[in-house]
Amino acid sequence: MNTANLLEFDLEGLAAFCEKLGEKRFRATQLFRWIHQRGASDFAQMTDLAKSLREKLATTARVEALPVLTQHESKDGTIKWLFDVGDGNAVEAVFIPEDDRGTLCVSSQAGCAVGCRFCSTGHQGFSRNLSTGEIVAQLWFAEHFLRKHLKRNERVISNVVMMGMGEPLQNYTALVPALRTMLDDNAYGLSRRRVTVSTSGVVPMIDRLGADCPVALAVSLHAPNDALRDDLVPLNRKYPIAELIEACKRYLAHAPRDFITFEYCMLDGVNDQPEHARQLVELVRTHGISCKFNLIPFNPFPASGLLRSPQPRVLAFAKTLSEAGLVTTVRKTRGDDIDAACGQLAGDVKDRTRAAERMAQRRVMSERPIVLHPVRKTIPQEH
Ligand code: SAH
Ligand code: SF4
Repeated sequence: MNTANLLEFDLEGLAAFCEKLGEKRFRATQLFRWIHQRGASDFAQMTDLAKSLREKLATTARVEALPVLTQHESKDGTIKWLFDVGDGNAVEAVFIPEDDRGTLCVSSQAGCAVGCRFCSTGHQGFSRNLSTGEIVAQLWFAEHFLRKHLKRNERVISNVVMMGMGEPLQNYTALVPALRTMLDDNAYGLSRRRVTVSTSGVVPMIDRLGADCPVALAVSLHAPNDALRDDLVPLNRKYPIAELIEACKRYLAHAPRDFITFEYCMLDGVNDQPEHARQLVELVRTHGISCKFNLIPFNPFPASGLLRSPQPRVLAFAKTLSEAGLVTTVRKTRGDDIDAACGQLAGDVKDRTRAAERMAQRRVMSERPIVLHPVRKTIPQEH
C-alpha cells in the first residue's frame, strides 16, 4: 500500500491528513512535534498518541528521510551532505557553524532551469523540482544528526538559506509549505528573519511570497544594467532590472527585515569595474530601494570561461559602494578543504566522476562577512 510521507506536510496539511483518518486536528500538532522537534520516525515511539492512531499511522503513513550518499566534514566544522533523490539525481545541503548561529544551506531543485553563466548548477540544466518533503528532509536530517553529533540538546540550526541547488521561486508550491514548517513553533521555530529565500528574480513569485509567507529575501543581482544581466542571468530578459527592483520594493512592505540583500558575484573583467560600482549606486538611488550588498568571490569552473576577480578589485568595488552609503559585505569562503559548495552538486550520481568535478567548482560561502561601513576610509582586511 502507498503510504504518505509525513515530511511532505506543513501543520495545516498534517491536520487535514489526520482528519481524513478520522482523528482530531490537535493530534496533528502532537505528531508534528514528534517528527520535527524530536526527530522521531517510528510511530510506536510516540507514546502520548492514542494507540489506535499509532496503528492507523503504521499502515497509512511514514516518515522518510532522503538517503545520504556522502557526508564530508571540513576542518572548520562545515558539513556537507549529498542526498539521493532518485533517478540518478542528487542534491546537497551544507551546514555552516559560526559562533552565534548555525546555518543550513538547502536545495530546492535537482539542477536549475535559469542557466546563469557563472553557476555550475545552471550549466547542468534542470532535472526536476524537489517536493516539500525533500526540501524539509534536508533540515530534518541535518538538525537531528547534528544534535547527536555535537551532543547538543537544544536546537543547532538557527538559520536556513535557500541557496543550494535550484531556483526556489520556480518551485513555489513545494517551497511555501516547506518554509511554513521551518517557521512553525511546533517544528523548527525559526525566525522569519533567519530564513532567507535567494532568487535570481522571478518577479511574480516575489509578490506571491510577500503575500503568502514573507521571509528574508536575497536577490542575485550580479549586474548593474540590463545588457550585462541579460547575458549573466538569462531570466533578466523576462524580468528586467527595473521590474525586479520595483518587486523588491513591494516585498519590503511585508518583509521581516527592512532591506533586501543584493548578491553580486564578482567576475574578473565582466562586472567588477569601477563603472559597474558607480552604475549600481545610481540604480539604487534612482529606485530608492533599501538594500545591502553582498559581494561573492566567484568560484570558477572551466566550462564558464570566467575567472574570479582579484581581491583588491573586490575591495575597491566594495569601497565605492560603501562610500556612497550602501552597506556592503564581502563573503568569506568556508569548507574549502571538502569542496563544500553550496548548490553545486551533481545532478547525476551515476556519473560520479563528473559529479565530483562539478562539486569542486564552488566553495561554501560563509554568511559572516566583512562589514564595510559607509564612509569608512580604510577597508578592514578579511578575517
Ligand atoms: N537560484 C537562487 C539560489 C541558489 S544560487 C539564486 O540564484 O539566487 C545561490 C547563490 O550562489 C546565488 O547568489 C548565486 O548567484 C551564487 N552562485 C552561483 N554560482 C556561483 C559561483 N560559481 N560562484 C559564486 N557564487 C555563485
Ligand atoms: Fe539557477 Fe541560481 Fe544557479 Fe542561476 S545562480 S543557475 S538561478 S541556481
